Amino acid sequence: MRGTSFPLLLRGGSVADGTGAPLVARDVAVVGGRVRLLAPGEVGSEDADEVVDVSGLVVAPGFIDAHTHSDTSCIDGAEGRLDEAQVFASVLQGVTTEIAGNCGHSAFPGKYPGLAALSDAHSAVGRANHLASLVGHGTLRSAIVGQQARAASATEVARMADALDEALAAGAVGFSTGLIYTPGSYADTAEITALARVAAQHGKPYVTHLRDEMSGVQDALEEAVAIARDSGAALHVSHHKTAGKYAWGLTEVTLARLAELRESGMDVTCDVYPYTAGSTALSAMLPPWAHDGGKERLLERLRDPGQRELIRKAIAEGVPGWENTVGNGGWDRIVVAGAPRHPAHQGRTVAELAREAGGAGDPGMDAVDLVAELLLGEDGEVTIISHSMREDDVRRVLAAPFAMIGSDGVPTAGLPHPRWAGTFARVLGCYAREAGLFDVPEAVRKMTGATAARFGLADRGVLRDGAHADVVVFDPARVADRATFASPLAGPEGVRLVAVGGTVVVRDGELTGARPGQVVGVGRR
Ligand SMILES: [Zn+2]
Repeated sequence: MRGTSFPLLLRGGSVADGTGAPLVARDVAVVGGRVRLLAPGEVGSEDADEVVDVSGLVVAPGFIDAHTHSDTSCIDGAEGRLDEAQVFASVLQGVTTEIAGNCGHSAFPGKYPGLAALSDAHSAVGRANHLASLVGHGTLRSAIVGQQARAASATEVARMADALDEALAAGAVGFSTGLIYTPGSYADTAEITALARVAAQHGKPYVTHLRDEMSGVQDALEEAVAIARDSGAALHVSHHKTAGKYAWGLTEVTLARLAELRESGMDVTCDVYPYTAGSTALSAMLPPWAHDGGKERLLERLRDPGQRELIRKAIAEGVPGWENTVGNGGWDRIVVAGAPRHPAHQGRTVAELAREAGGAGDPGMDAVDLVAELLLGEDGEVTIISHSMREDDVRRVLAAPFAMIGSDGVPTAGLPHPRWAGTFARVLGCYAREAGLFDVPEAVRKMTGATAARFGLADRGVLRDGAHADVVVFDPARVADRATFASPLAGPEGVRLVAVGGTVVVRDGELTGARPGQVVGVGRR
């Protein structure tokens, strides 16, 4: 090793290499943006520009967030729509690659013509960590079919397939759907299968937010299985859960089904976040027909008392094929998270707000009226947190060997879900160390090697000679999440150092200001 000079040497730590193998004492050096593993003490301090003593700490591959909605968060931050705490909550936890484009929604083709254009926009503002992206079905459908509640024609499906083919060839890492969201929910199984076939041709996964994660979760899972089987694509179930009181406990059944499929040779995996609450758009609480024609049509319907009455009835009675979150829980489980023009609503349940909308002795307002007025006052854009899951279900999914960790983080103003700032530290602290669901090497594998393998991120997610030097150093005795529903962006404890491509981006919980991150996969043809 004499004569070699390393820009960075992490000395004295235990390596969790991302494969799940037991911790092993190794020094970790960086050279040319790649990793070199060394026997402890193999090189001296004089051979490195920066030496960090990491004794007692774990050195792991940088975490890969399997599921984010951070497609443009760095750009939004640079342009003043998000503040730093929202943009960098992920990297402060040790996430060195965010996988965006989930739930059927990607930033291309549409807002940006393609992944290369998105990459250019990120490069222009600079990123601390890397981004990879799926191609969203809802995005393709918006561009080609529009917001209409109807089946796509054969020609339209062919055009979506061509656009998907182009985006996957340009480096997108898979094809995603969000089948509770319009316009994705207007698609039938055959349309999705035809598109998943394109993903299969590229050897990339079909990644799905199931059509129903509540009382209809088993049928929705079978739809996804049929799509994967008929298309030949690998299946990845997003943020797997069985939510709402009618589905509590069903993870026993769904996880057994996934395990059985894997045993039969099917390539199927899932991701999960470590919380019993989800987060989405308030408008997703409304039946799909209310969105027919797009946002302006939705707002018109919300202004119309007759249409409001039909929405009220749909939520009370259900609509075949529609998940109906509120019907599976209630407005007392829905908390307003982001409503910029109604800051006093944030952190309160819809049920509370409706009750208080009346005066003393007044029964208050109907919840659907409150929701309609709030959406009208926010131009349709309100995020919510839905307290819909049970702890045993969450733990069961986390512990499944084929489950990897994805925050489902949505960087947004207001009081967003704490998962964006807490997921990875929470898995290590609350679920590995305290609950003992798995050991540290296995927790790390679920956040790194498993995820890199699923999304085809070559030389990432593992610490071995020649791998990209995306690295996190944490204290296994202290790592913990501090983000809460009241303080959702509080940074974690115990994450000591994060390097991206060998450049230190976080040191002792503080951003260094370095911006080595890139959009990965661009230009692969
Ligand atoms: Zn989703």
